[in-house]
Amino acid sequence: MTSIRTRFAPSPTGFMHVGGVRTALFAWLIARQNGGVFILRIEDTDKVREVEGSITQIKDSLRWLGISWDEGIEVGGPHEPYLQSERLPIYKEWAQKLVDSGRAYADPYSQAELEGFRDKAKAAKRPFLYRDHRPIQPPVWDGSQPLRFKSDPKNYAWKDAVMGDLASGPEAIDDFILIKSDGFPTYNFCHIVDDALMGITHVLRSQEFISSTPKFLNLYEALEIEQPVLATLPYVMAIDGKKKLGKRDGAKDILEYGHEGYVPEAMMNFLATLGWNDGTEQEIFSVNELIKKFSLDRVQKSPARFDEQRLLWLNGQWIRRLALEDLYERATNFWPECAQQASEGAKKQVLALVQDRLKTLADLAVLSSYFFEEPTPNWTMIDDNKQLSKLSRDEHIALLRTSINELSSSKFDSESIQITLNRLLEITGQKPAILFSLIRLGVSWAPFSPALNDTISALGQHATLDRLQQAIDAA
Ligand code: GLU
Repeated sequence: MTSIRTRFAPSPTGFMHVGGVRTALFAWLIARQNGGVFILRIEDTDKVREVEGSITQIKDSLRWLGISWDEGIEVGGPHEPYLQSERLPIYKEWAQKLVDSGRAYADPYSQAELEGFRDKAKAAKRPFLYRDHRPIQPPVWDGSQPLRFKSDPKNYAWKDAVMGDLASGPEAIDDFILIKSDGFPTYNFCHIVDDALMGITHVLRSQEFISSTPKFLNLYEALEIEQPVLATLPYVMAIDGKKKLGKRDGAKDILEYGHEGYVPEAMMNFLATLGWNDGTEQEIFSVNELIKKFSLDRVQKSPARFDEQRLLWLNGQWIRRLALEDLYERATNFWPECAQQASEGAKKQVLALVQDRLKTLADLAVLSSYFFEEPTPNWTMIDDNKQLSKLSRDEHIALLRTSINELSSSKFDSESIQITLNRLLEITGQKPAILFSLIRLGVSWAPFSPALNDTISALGQHATLDRLQQAIDAA
């Protein structure tokens, strides 16, 4: 059996968003699970759409996710170059083969003449087809005219590894351009040449190319190329399911998520399960599990929906699973200003406390700042709290006083504090939702915080009592 070779072939037209990266991930998983080769090829033959800096963005995005390529730009390989604009002589040579075998011809028509043909077809209510206007004696192709494929319209039936059995009629096939008059090949032509030369066994790409597949099949035949496995990935839709998620519709640069405190494990898990599952209820997959379990026949045929809430949930799950040392490394840029001077030990203690509460690394700022700097009392937070607003200000103050009393004679490890807190419940006859919320706000003035006993143990006795007193003073 030939070993599996897959490729990701993006055009450098801007940043990478979830849809594009998911295609890369699936192709990479197929290669990795079979000990195959994953190739990164850049399809930069449409110079008008090119956006500067995109190639760096593409590489950075794949690297951030941990998708490594074995051949391709930067790393090289046996089929160099991997940048299509540097392969023009190769396409010319293959185009010439088609000219020589009578399967390509120079298009002699001006724009105006083509318009004329189009108008005529429209008036006759016929679809416009280039192949209805093949020149009887085409000029010699000198590179100044577009070169067109002389197609062989027919029926096709083929199997798509995701979409299943597909079929098309001759109307899907026309004389498309192989080489444009600027000397650059079209995507339709050069990706086929490159996939063949690079020995690609599995072509994974997005749904937008499915209607062109009959053309590709026709060209494989003309070039006597063996057809690779074709796998069409359905679109990723916006959450409402109505619109394809695209750069123009708010799809974000994948690297943005990293800056916002998402970890790559969560993003990879999210992307892999965007339209794929392993047939069980499992939601959390490590990269090794994905490599083991991924299969094209379990990719859904219908579009996947981009649910950012699910990504957020997965991110929290993955942050929770990180070893403290690892989390500490990743959190470097997410500490609040006031933590900059704190020792590594102090930061790690706080990190261990808040780890389970972090949905993104960026939550660290809100969740940790009160450990490093005194918060300003804000009694509106108490008034806005559903439970706490049931009590009067005097009652709040009385509860805080009793708490100060008990906590001042408590030992200050987490366990002793818990015992003291439980005793406080008995003394005051209050529910935890009232008493603990009050103390929590009194020491942190933050919307949420880790377990109360751990929080105040980390703050220490002096700061805890001091803050509770300040809360009373500010009431
Ligand atoms: N260059 C194409 C794109 O960026 C790639 C399609 C393919 O994978 O063949 O959409």
